Amino acid sequence: MRVSKLLMPTLREVPAEAEIASHRLMLRSAMIRKLAAGVYSFLPLGLKTLQNVEKVVREEMDKAGAQELLMSALLPAEAYMQTGRWDIFGESMFRLKDRNDRDFCLGPTHEEIFTETVKNEVHSYRDLPLTLYQIQTKYRDERRPRFGVMRSREFVMKDAYSFDLTKEGLDASYDAMYKAYCAIFDRLGLDYVVVDADSGAMGGSGSQEFMVKSEVGEDVIAHCDKCGYTANEEKAECIPAPKDFPQDEKPMEKLETPNAHTIEELTDSLGVPAYRFAKTLIYKVGDQYVAAMVRGDREVNPIKLQNLLGSPEEAELAEPFAVRDITKAEVGFAGPVGLSIPVYADKEVMEMKAMVVGANETGYHLVNVEPGRDFTPTLVADIRTIEDGDICPRCGGKIDTFHGIEIGHIFKLGTKYSKALGLTFPDENGEEQPVIMGCYGIGVNRCIAAVIEQNHDDNGIIWPMCIAPYKVEVVVVNAGDETQMKMAEGLYKMLSDSGVATLFDDRDERPGVKFKDADLIGVPVRITVGKKAADGLVEFKLRNGEGFTEMNFADAAAEALRLSGEAK
Ligand code: ATP
Ligand code: MG
Repeated sequence: MRVSKLLMPTLREVPAEAEIASHRLMLRSAMIRKLAAGVYSFLPLGLKTLQNVEKVVREEMDKAGAQELLMSALLPAEAYMQTGRWDIFGESMFRLKDRNDRDFCLGPTHEEIFTETVKNEVHSYRDLPLTLYQIQTKYRDERRPRFGVMRSREFVMKDAYSFDLTKEGLDASYDAMYKAYCAIFDRLGLDYVVVDADSGAMGGSGSQEFMVKSEVGEDVIAHCDKCGYTANEEKAECIPAPKDFPQDEKPMEKLETPNAHTIEELTDSLGVPAYRFAKTLIYKVGDQYVAAMVRGDREVNPIKLQNLLGSPEEAELAEPFAVRDITKAEVGFAGPVGLSIPVYADKEVMEMKAMVVGANETGYHLVNVEPGRDFTPTLVADIRTIEDGDICPRCGGKIDTFHGIEIGHIFKLGTKYSKALGLTFPDENGEEQPVIMGCYGIGVNRCIAAVIEQNHDDNGIIWPMCIAPYKVEVVVVNAGDETQMKMAEGLYKMLSDSGVATLFDDRDERPGVKFKDADLIGVPVRITVGKKAADGLVEFKLRNGEGFTEMNFADAAAEALRLSGEAK
C-alpha cells in the first residue's frame, strides 16, 4: 500500500479525551475514530490489525477442534427471558422492538442462542462433544465506557461454547480451550497471567481469566511469589491477619465523637489506630439492604458480598437517605449493635477485641465492643478485599497485588443454560440428562489495546510482527529523486509480490514527517532509501531496536523477508 493513497490521517496532537497510551496511540495513528461514547469506527490501519488478531484467534480455535459459525447480533428476547438474563442484564443490555412490537436485544453474549442452536440442530448424543465459536460484534451499554476500545459499548468478541455429556468431557473441552488461549496470547506477544476468577452470579464450577499485567488495568490480581497462587481480587481468599488487641474485656461504652464521620477523623479524635475500628457499611443488593462489617483498615469487596447473597445485582453503597432511615443516624455512625437489617461480618472482625463501632446515633461511637458478646452477625464470611502484604491462603507466604486487563475468560458453566432451555439427551437408562456446557470469550479489540499498552514508546506503537498492520515500511527520503524512487519502488514491489504486507511512504513530504509517522504507526521493519541509493545502499531499522544498519539493497530485502516470516 502506498501511503500517498492510504487513508491514514495521523494526529500530531495528543487527543484530550484519551487517558491511556493505547487509546491515545490508536487515535493518533489513525486506527480508530470515535462516533459516540464507547463506539468506534476502525480506519484501514485499525481494521488490518483487527483482522490480524482475528486470524490468530481463528487459527488456534480451529486447531483446537472448535468449529466456526456466525450468529446474528440482533437477537429475539425469548431465550434470554427463559434463562432470566433479560432482567439480569438490566441497563447494560441494548433493547429494541421490531415493527410488530416484538422484543429484541443486541447480543451482549450468546450462551442462550448457541444452546438453542445445538438443541435444534444436534439430534444425537453421538454428535457430542461439540465446541462452536464465532468472532462477532457484541453490544453492552457499559456503565463507564472508557479507554477507547478497551471498554467500549460495541466490541468484537470471540465467543466459544462447548457441549459435553459428562463432567470429564467438560474438563477436556475446557482444557483444550485453555491451551488454545495460551497459544493465542503467546503468539500476540502478550505478557499475561491466568487467574482464578469469580464464577459468582453466573453459576458454574470454575472459571479462569487471562490477564495482561498493566497499570491501567481495571482488575486487581493477588499473587504469591512463593507458591504461585494467583487470583482475581473478587475471588482471592482473605486470611485474617493478627493484630495486637487489648485482652481485658470491659463493658461496652458510648462515647461522644461529634465530628468523626470517617476512620481518619476517628483515629485522630480517639487516638487509636484504624485497625481497632470496625466499619459498618450499609449496602443495597438488589432490593434488600444489608450491613457489611470489615476492620477499619480494610475495604469491603462488593462482589464477594453480592456472591454471598447470591444476587444477580451488584452490591452498591446505600444512598444517604436509606442509611439515615436504617441507622437513625447520619452517614458515618452506623454500627452492628441493635441494627435491624442483616449484618454480614468479615472473618477478621470476629478476631477483633475491644473494638470501636458506630452507635447508630449521630455524633456517637461505642467502644470496648466485643463481637459475640455485644452483637452477633447474621453471617461471618470473607467479604473484604485482599491487599499487599496479606497472608497467602495457600502457602502462608506474602501476597502482592497488581493491576491487569482481562483479555480472555474461560468458564465451566455446567447445566445452567441447558436446563433452562431444555437441551438434554437421553442417557443409557433412557433418562434425559442436561448437556454440560462451557463458555470461552476473548475481547479481540481489547487485545489490540493490551498489546499497545505493553509495546509502545514515546514515539508510538511498536507492533509485534504477528499482528502489525504492515510488516515492512519502505520510506523514500526524496520522492523527487529518480534513483531513490526507482530503488524504493523496486523494493516495494519485490516485498509485496513475495506476500509481505508492505507500506511504501512515497509521499512528497519532508523525511522528518515520514519518520515520525512511521514511528507512530509502529511498522516493525523500516527500510529507508535515501542519498546512498546511488551506491546501492539503504538504511535498515527495526522499530523495537536502536539506530539503523546500512545495507545493500538485496541484503535489506532478504532480511525484511526473513523477519516478516515470509522467506521462502
Ligand atoms: P469486564 O469484567 O472487563 O467487564 P466481562 O467479564 O464482563 O469483562 P466477559 O463477559 O467475560 O467480560 O467477556 C469476554 C471478554 O470480552 C472479556 O474477557 C474481555 O476481553 C472482552 N470484553 C468484555 N467487555 C468488553 C468491553 N466493554 N469492551 C471490550 N472488550 C470487552
Ligand atoms: Mg469476564
